Amino acid sequence: MKIGFDIDGTLTMFDSFVKSEGEKYILAKLDFGVQNHNGYDLDEVFELENKLMEKGHNKTEASVKVKKYMNEFWNKKYLKYVFYKLRPGSSDFTKMIASEGHEIHLYTSRRKATEKTLIGKFVRSTIKLQLLLGQIKYNQLNFYESDAEKITALLKANLDLHFDDKKELLEEINNFIDVVCIDNPYNKKYQGERLYDYQTEGKSFLLKKGLIKR
Ligand SMILES: [Mg+2]
Repeated sequence: MKIGFDIDGTLTMFDSFVKSEGEKYILAKLDFGVQNHNGYDLDEVFELENKLMEKGHNKTEASVKVKKYMNEFWNKKYLKYVFYKLRPGSSDFTKMIASEGHEIHLYTSRRKATEKTLIGKFVRSTIKLQLLLGQIKYNQLNFYESDAEKITALLKANLDLHFDDKKELLEEINNFIDVVCIDNPYNKKYQGERLYDYQTEGKSFLLKKGLIKR
């Protein structure tokens, strides 16, 4: 069978990275902590636009500053994210799937990864490095410029199953592909099949799906 995986938030611990590293960064820059535990990226978790408006900026200034803080945060912390540990049990989970002869195809729309520039090349190598360090088994790695492009590719890919963490993406494809939501605070409202933890539930999940035999 052909099994799809997203990378950020599905194999990586995007949420805890944004909260822990983001808190250090935002505390130092703006002197406040996490505002919304169910947010996704830095802007939502720290409600940056609102907080900047509370500090006296108008909406336009605030939104310009939000972009600036987000760019600076990810430029500064990106390599730390690459070396940040992956979700517990994710390596064994992919190894169990691969050991039964199934193919694993990864789909990521990480920003800049499709650029034909040195930066693009650098980002692609860091993703491969992250997967290598996390000992993720895979057959193919696909990069997309946007979620829309990724969705188009997923719909054409003839996957038997796809794992992802983004509610909106899952909702767009779940009528056509068997999908599983990898549990995160920001996707609790997704109503569909959910896997909470690779380490504790991974094996029984794969048995249930018939992807492994014992
Ligand atoms: Mg993701």
